[in-house]
Amino acid sequence: MTPAQARKFFKDEGIRYILAQFVDIHGAAKAKAVPVEHLDMVLTDGAGFAGFALWGFGMGPQGPDYMAVGELDTLKPMRWMPGFATMNTIGHTHGKPYAFDSRLALKNQLATLAAKGLVLYTGIEPEFMLLTRDPVSGALAPFDATDTLEKPCYDYKGLARASGFLDEFTTALRAVGIDVYQIDHEDANGQFEVNFTYADALASADRIIYLKMAASEIARRHGMIATFMPKPFSNRTGTGAHFHLSMGDAKTKNLFFDARDKRGLGLSKTGYQFLAGLLHHAPALTALCAPTVNSYKRLVVGRALSGATWAPAYIAYGDNNRTCMVRIPYGRLELRLPDGAMNPYLVTAAIVAAGMDGIARKLDPGEPIDDNLYEWTPAQLAERGVAVLPQNLAAALDALEADAVVRAGLGEALAAEFIRLKRMEWIEYSRHVSTWETDRYLEFF
Ligand code: GLU
Ligand code: MG
Repeated sequence: MTPAQARKFFKDEGIRYILAQFVDIHGAAKAKAVPVEHLDMVLTDGAGFAGFALWGFGMGPQGPDYMAVGELDTLKPMRWMPGFATMNTIGHTHGKPYAFDSRLALKNQLATLAAKGLVLYTGIEPEFMLLTRDPVSGALAPFDATDTLEKPCYDYKGLARASGFLDEFTTALRAVGIDVYQIDHEDANGQFEVNFTYADALASADRIIYLKMAASEIARRHGMIATFMPKPFSNRTGTGAHFHLSMGDAKTKNLFFDARDKRGLGLSKTGYQFLAGLLHHAPALTALCAPTVNSYKRLVVGRALSGATWAPAYIAYGDNNRTCMVRIPYGRLELRLPDGAMNPYLVTAAIVAAGMDGIARKLDPGEPIDDNLYEWTPAQLAERGVAVLPQNLAAALDALEADAVVRAGLGEALAAEFIRLKRMEWIEYSRHVSTWETDRYLEFF
């Protein structure tokens, strides 16, 4: 699209504002609205922001302006905000790309692949919950008071009662080429999943952010809260954001695929090596894929309070095994570690670093495990050398700090900023006295 075509598009579609949009280090969407008459400014100097006002931009109040420079081919009208279209940007300071922009970090990683003639494809599976808050007690519950089944997954009634929201939501996504092909009620009460076609890794990350922007505001209009929080309810399944991964080059669409695979998983040598890199760097990846204190209530070892959690807790891979960190749906990888709180740009950048290290070092992932790992004893796990993922944010941050490959994949400055901020989050959480504690201890002794 040229600027002239964009102007015609604005006129035809009644677009009056461009949102110059980016994400902070947490993956939360930030933007300025710019009247379309100033399109050239967004595309050249960029829209200006005070970086100190944002999380994770490594700036003090004396810092330079953070200039979000738009990329025209990412323009997407927002049906739930008539007259507005959003545009992804790349952050600049002093006229140069700024290393604290997570989208830039991903672009840099993808450029290292492109230099080798490679393209990474991702398909991200967003789960989310639709809730309401009781106006008197403040308690959160599924928006649909009848959504109380013990096994609500795929339930027709649950789907039917959310259909007003889901239709408006998927229509908004499909209108900008996010090809939704499946919608279901998931395992937790109030939980849904919307699947859309995979694409190159940057487009997929942009789409997930757009999808979250759409979900939150369309839900509000229906009197609901859309949440991607990893574990809003301790007794219900958490919210994942699994990444399906494959890689292509000029000749081959999927280099991870090989029908001759003796293990029957349809994986090539390259696929196994990339997988081995993910497993090898799993503890550091966890910090990015499960980036909040709440994330670790999803990644529990063994049974959750409600029975199956479906979330991975073990550094292992298996065929159609949902208890492993990586499932092989045949000929591609499904990384099940990421949750709804992840920043998709940082997660994908880290995946590239870890997987490509596996290829560079010809790492071997060992044999797949097809048992229910939730049922293995510690002795069985030890015998097969299956390690557990970090079980809290502090442990995951230690692993990231110790992993030079993953840190370099994000860029050292951005990695250090992430670790610094997330350690603050951990300390704040650790010092907080919760209701669980007073309930348990106040008159216990
Ligand atoms: N909700 C589960 C998770 O947290 C995933 C369920 C599924 O396999 O779709 O990862
Ligand atoms: Mg799911």
